[in-house]
Amino acid sequence: MRENMTVSADRQAYLEAVLSTLPECVAIVDRNFRLIDMNQAGLSMIGVDRLEDIPEGAPLSLIAQPYHRIYRDAFKAIIDGEVPGASDPFRLKIHAVDGTEYLLECRLAPLPSKDGSIDAAVITSRDVSEWQGALDTVEQANSLLESILATVPNAMVVTDSHGRITSFSAAAEALFGYTEAEIIGKNVKLLMPEPYRSSHDRYLERYRRTGEKHIIGMGRTVEGCKKDGTVFPIQLEIGETHISGEPLFTGFIVDLTEQKQTEAELQSLQGDLMHASRLSAVGSLASALAHELNQPLTAIANYLSAARDLLDQGPGDKTELLYEALQESVSESLRAGKIVRRLREFVAKGEINRQILSIAQLVEDAMTLGLVGAYDKGIDCTIDIDPDTNHVFADRVQIQQVMVNLMRNAIEAMAESPVKKLGISVQSAPRKRVEIAISDTGSGIEPEMEDKLFHPFSTTKGSGMGLGLSICRTIIEAHEGTIYAEPNPQGGTIFRIFLLKAAEEKMHVE
Ligand code: ADP
Repeated sequence: MRENMTVSADRQAYLEAVLSTLPECVAIVDRNFRLIDMNQAGLSMIGVDRLEDIPEGAPLSLIAQPYHRIYRDAFKAIIDGEVPGASDPFRLKIHAVDGTEYLLECRLAPLPSKDGSIDAAVITSRDVSEWQGALDTVEQANSLLESILATVPNAMVVTDSHGRITSFSAAAEALFGYTEAEIIGKNVKLLMPEPYRSSHDRYLERYRRTGEKHIIGMGRTVEGCKKDGTVFPIQLEIGETHISGEPLFTGFIVDLTEQKQTEAELQSLQGDLMHASRLSAVGSLASALAHELNQPLTAIANYLSAARDLLDQGPGDKTELLYEALQESVSESLRAGKIVRRLREFVAKGEINRQILSIAQLVEDAMTLGLVGAYDKGIDCTIDIDPDTNHVFADRVQIQQVMVNLMRNAIEAMAESPVKKLGISVQSAPRKRVEIAISDTGSGIEPEMEDKLFHPFSTTKGSGMGLGLSICRTIIEAHEGTIYAEPNPQGGTIFRIFLLKAAEEKMHVE
């Protein structure tokens, strides 16, 4: 207050002006708990216009029952002079005349009379209902977050824009082996092996600078690193939110260790099955193969005995005839060698090894085994391989297995057919693909087989296992290709396979 404001009337007016404009409630209560006076803000909160309209027994009658004791104790301490100056703030819940509930933060101060005795107290209070409501909401959100963190089955890690961990769920503790207390505030890099660890700061920095998202919002299979150093595969999903303008990242982590193990076991089982199926195919080809091998061996024997006879006949110029006999022997033995080589390759149990291969060459090689005995069965083969068909990224043995399977099925389907035409074609197809078609003029697909042609154990053959086509589809799909069958307009069936051509820049032909 300014010094020249000395007139008591002015001071009274000043105080009244202050009191009436103060947003806080101010009231005077005498030692008998009677309300003596109250400012405008207080009257408005209670819901009355004048002091006389305040309900009987105020302020106690306005205070909610559970708070009476707090109020009485605080009031008594002030009136009895136990507290010099103002009391500590305390909270009261009151009801306005219309029943509205307010939570007030109050302070009491003694109001000494002229003789220094304390017969009344001033109570100032402000409405903190909204503030408390907001606080409750935050607390609720916090406890909700805590219960999510404690129960969410997937590991959940929240980090700030600098990669510092701000929350670590119970599942994350179990997965990574760190406790929440020891990891909070540490950099999330700790949970990553190299090379992710070294590049993470750069990612975050680039994201802060450019806003370019690389992983946020899309799931990725990456690797995690446990406290004991174990590196393991994880599926990571990251969400982003902003709190007070600062980004927060929530990572959901699924441990893929078991899934990857199962996948590896499944793959190895599948490999075993494919191998078994190749062995069984070779088993069923055994007699035709023996026959096929016998032909060049017989031819070699014939050529060599002819050569010997020529030599037996004594001197004379037989060089040309001898040369021809030896030349034929060489080419027949190469033919036999080729069959044996393909056979060995086919029955070998090797790792899957995808390479850039010439598809035309691959199909031609597969014919060595696939067409064994076809000629003897009166089958007329038409081969149409476009030399420009390009290359595919494939496993040689697996693709040959598909080809051999389809060729053998086609030959079997034509056993009773009057017309036996087997067509093999390799052509370029739209969308950077290669089409391999194997057509026959056989019995056609039986109606009962149409829906389950590629299902395992579906067969119409007495001795068939029904695994061939299901293995073909598994192989082709693992090569990101497609396979299907359709009726041949000439009668019989056409199997078509589409494989992606290898990207030109990867081209390094085996
Ligand atoms: P399997 O040869 O042991 O029966 P596959 O899976 O290779 O096993 O073939 C499943 C079935 O599909 C065969 O039993 C046959 O009914 C039918 N099928 C396959 N290829 C042909 C074809 N080229 N023509 C007619 N039917 C075929």
